[in-house]
Amino acid sequence: MLIVMQRQTTEAARDDVREWVEARGLRTRSFSVGRETVVACSPPDIEVDRRALQRLPGVARIESSPHPLVARASGPRGSVALGDGVVAGGTELIVAAGPCSVETASGLRDAAWAVRSSGAQLLRGGAFKPRTSPYSFQGLGVDGLRLLAEVRAETGLPVVTEVTDPRLVETVAEHADILQVGARSMQNVPLLRELGLIQRPILLKRGLSASVTEFLLAAEYVMVGGNSNVILCERGIRTFETTTRFTLDLAAVPVLQREAHLPVFVDPSHSAGTRDLVEPLAYAAVAAGADGLLVEVHTAPETAWSDSDQALDPLAFDRMMRGLAGFAAAAGRHLPLPEPTLRREVVG
Ligand code: PEP
Ligand code: MN
Repeated sequence: MLIVMQRQTTEAARDDVREWVEARGLRTRSFSVGRETVVACSPPDIEVDRRALQRLPGVARIESSPHPLVARASGPRGSVALGDGVVAGGTELIVAAGPCSVETASGLRDAAWAVRSSGAQLLRGGAFKPRTSPYSFQGLGVDGLRLLAEVRAETGLPVVTEVTDPRLVETVAEHADILQVGARSMQNVPLLRELGLIQRPILLKRGLSASVTEFLLAAEYVMVGGNSNVILCERGIRTFETTTRFTLDLAAVPVLQREAHLPVFVDPSHSAGTRDLVEPLAYAAVAAGADGLLVEVHTAPETAWSDSDQALDPLAFDRMMRGLAGFAAAAGRHLPLPEPTLRREVVG
């Protein structure tokens, strides 16, 4: 249940409402969505006398939701601060780019400088890789985290990297700015609960065969623990279609934005599976209203230790970023690109 307070209401009235609800066995959390104050009440299955609640001073309306903390009660969408002034969910289109996996210090450094010079605001790279096969490269682990932190310090790019295990949350949070939950871990409940206990931004990817509601309930697990800094990431789902690695569900972008107040990113790389499709899918994602993109870029894609078929090289990424600026503008977003002369020096 979500209680939307009247716009001119006082903090005292809001606190009285919270007290009234809590006296009936519910937990409450109050937050602002744009200019509105919302009191989210959980668990959703405890019923209260809604007519009496509606009569309390300051209450504008009451809404129901299976995921009251992620639900978009009303008003503009929320935003999440990602570090170093980068904000997801604002007017700026956010692009996180970098290799699938952290491999070598020099490879990561070169990729980071290249994506930065093309306008990416965040560096991505996996140190813990939940691969489909146990015989595939599993990531450099803590050594990979150290490399990410080093390159972050050199380039100033905040880092997003995956955490696969609740026991690793603290270690990953020590090295990275944003913690990614991979598609294969979307319903790892102990991991989601642990991530609810920190305040670091979480990039939550949609499970391979998760419905939108299941996806939002996974976000609710993080938020119910106290961490509201969640970004949702559509990365393609499993369907009968085999011409792409996964089917990119672009309808999910406006649907998630309608149902939740959280920023929505799209990963065109994992859904495409092949590099030629990354650029058009990225454009389509931005046209559909995505708040940000997660893109795999490697300085020598054919030699990448994981997902080599879908990685863009720096030149292709640079071309995509320049193309993206027009789509971003058409969608009412701003993509700040560095000066072309500087870009050419580093990329070319
Ligand atoms: C990734 O982004 O590195 C990744 C493994 O993606 P996904 O979890 O979506 O497969
Ligand atoms: Mn990958």
